[in-house]
Amino acid sequence: MTPSHTKICGGVYVFLLMFYKVTAKTKGVLLMSNLSQIFGSNVFNDAVMKERLPKATYKALKKTIEEGIPLDPAVADVVASVMKDWALEKGATHFTHWFQPMTGITAEKHDSFISPTADGKVIMEFSGKELIKGEPDASSFPSGGIRATFEARGYTAWDCTSPAFIKDGSLCIPTAFCSYTGEALDKKTPLLRSMEALSKQALRVLKALGNTTSNKVITTVGPEQEYFIVDKKTYDQRKDLIMTGRTLFGAKPPKGQELEDHYFGSLKEKISAYMKELDEELWKLGISAKTKHNEVAPAQHELAPIFTTTNIATDHNQLTMDTMKKVALRHDLVCLLHEKPFAGINGSGKHNNWSMGTDDGINLLDPGNTPHENEQFLVFLCAVIKAVDEYADLLRVSAANPGNDHRLGANEAPPAIISIFLGDQLQDILEQLENGGATSSKNGGKMEIGVTTLPALPKDATDRNRTSPFAFTGNKFEFRMVPSSASIAGPNYMINTAVAEILSQVADRLEKAKDVTAEVKAILTEYVTKHKRIVFNGNGYSDEWVVEAEKRGLANTRTTIEATKALIAEKNLALMEKYSVLSRVEMESRYEIALENYIKTINIEALTMVEMAKRQILPAVIKFATNIAGSINTIKSTGVAADVTAQTELLTEVSALTATLKKNIAVLEAAVEKASDAHGDTYAQASLFRFDVFEKMGTLREVADKLETLVDEDVWPMPTYSELLFNV
Ligand code: ADP
Ligand code: MG
Repeated sequence: MTPSHTKICGGVYVFLLMFYKVTAKTKGVLLMSNLSQIFGSNVFNDAVMKERLPKATYKALKKTIEEGIPLDPAVADVVASVMKDWALEKGATHFTHWFQPMTGITAEKHDSFISPTADGKVIMEFSGKELIKGEPDASSFPSGGIRATFEARGYTAWDCTSPAFIKDGSLCIPTAFCSYTGEALDKKTPLLRSMEALSKQALRVLKALGNTTSNKVITTVGPEQEYFIVDKKTYDQRKDLIMTGRTLFGAKPPKGQELEDHYFGSLKEKISAYMKELDEELWKLGISAKTKHNEVAPAQHELAPIFTTTNIATDHNQLTMDTMKKVALRHDLVCLLHEKPFAGINGSGKHNNWSMGTDDGINLLDPGNTPHENEQFLVFLCAVIKAVDEYADLLRVSAANPGNDHRLGANEAPPAIISIFLGDQLQDILEQLENGGATSSKNGGKMEIGVTTLPALPKDATDRNRTSPFAFTGNKFEFRMVPSSASIAGPNYMINTAVAEILSQVADRLEKAKDVTAEVKAILTEYVTKHKRIVFNGNGYSDEWVVEAEKRGLANTRTTIEATKALIAEKNLALMEKYSVLSRVEMESRYEIALENYIKTINIEALTMVEMAKRQILPAVIKFATNIAGSINTIKSTGVAADVTAQTELLTEVSALTATLKKNIAVLEAAVEKASDAHGDTYAQASLFRFDVFEKMGTLREVADKLETLVDEDVWPMPTYSELLFNV
């Protein structure tokens, strides 16, 4: 057996090294020295701690960060004081506990460092207590019924595993957020808990397989972030974009993404300048922004950092989204993170590249050159396969939000079926395992390009598949369903916990086994046989797959509200409780919050539509109709026997559509009112919003979009898709 020794290259140093090579080659060494100076310059990272903290304090803090040993309050005092001095040097005046409530975005409340003295002056102070614990009022954050508004107290607790940083003149301290009674009110707490759960179970498996060197297993993630950029002036004229983040109206432009000329296309200067400044801001925050390019849809782009631990990557992704929006404004641009800002062209997602690695550098999902012999890899691979099959509903709900409903299981979208892509090589091994044992690995070989001056490239043993929601991509899985605007905490704590459970089942068996190798073989054969239904290597976007998946018994959960049922399914409540990731109460609260969020989102969208239709579109089309009528009268009054059939036909068509528009507005208004009044059962109310209000929004839009194609563009009250998509 040859366990894989491929090193996980997470971490700042490797990044800098790689960067050195690239920059030194292209721009000369001068720029590179600038870059290494700015990278992480706003982060209280390991290097800063090592340099500034007394040795004993540094050691104690490191023990807490790496081994989870509780922190001594005296140590916290020293750290706080050093942190404050460092922050003041960087020009900060305030500190804030930075946390991630269940709104999916981040929250911060700033306190200045000043403390008054007897002589009427101030000194700068920051204590260990202030570093460790904060007490923000929690009553205005979503809690899903965990707490009543009169129990306002909430606590934030320092998460020292994610470094503090400076943003907008404040020292930001990453924290977890919980209620007075100790329930998690945020996205970070369950993530941290799930990382511990996975580490513990994975280590048991590793030990049973004979590993004596690893002390910790770390889950890693590199999220590829997609986004749209539009011109600020154009954006300002669209109430829908301002209020909801997506266009609620808009006829299809003559050109969409069909020419595929935007993907990887040369960057426009304005975009390039934006991306450059964005990179720099992110680097200052220690975020290793690495890849940037144009995406498939016009005005769509992508940014990917180098992966790191799921905890830090989640913080970094939140900061990235925040920074993307802020920097865009400096360039008179607006960054749209919504999953589907425009109908008819691609929406945005976040590809959650996930893996597991040991503290001594083994990527547990690296197949190596001979995967069939790599016992350790196969065990972890099959554990993931089983986990995804058994907890597909949890993965599905982790990727569910109202915006993503347009990207999954909808008209223009791929089906919302969870399946795994493995590729030829692993598929072949799986088949061998099912038949009793794997004895060979297919090889990629070499790829001849047919031009003698070009090198023969080594061919990967497996192709990529862009249509799979959960694709194996070499040494990691890429969960592609994740919504572009959402926190990646949810998807990652779901994956971590589901995999932890299966690893615990594997460990139970291996720890008892007399012949570990034989038991491994038995486990692999069993897992493959029972869970091969989740593996699908074909075209995930095809209609045939929908039929095939149904035959296999795989769920196709089309809407967010249906997906939320997974949060209160008994098997999932039991799972989350078993690993103390989320208690029953905490799960139920997340179910409530998801539904409430759905209701509120659709309500805002529907009301925005009504307002735009009534006060912008209707007046515009009436004006246009009046213009035509006036023109017909004018022509007739000249006494010339001119043909006015064109004008008359247009007027008839516009008037008929205007009548329908008016009627559809009323129908939508009535539906919103009915749904809003339907208090009581949240699920039933959310269903009304989905299957009544949302449907009627579609009907209203159809007429308005038709009118847009008929009405004089000078009269149309808002910028069109062409202007929004091709204007930057
Ligand atoms: P592609 O678009 O071909 O999928 P990208 O390079 O855009 O590839 O993104 C791949 C992402 O996967 C990057 O963020 C990368 O750092 C991340 N990644 C690579 N290895 C791992 C790993 N072991 N664990 C988690 N993420 C990883
Ligand atoms: Mg990708």
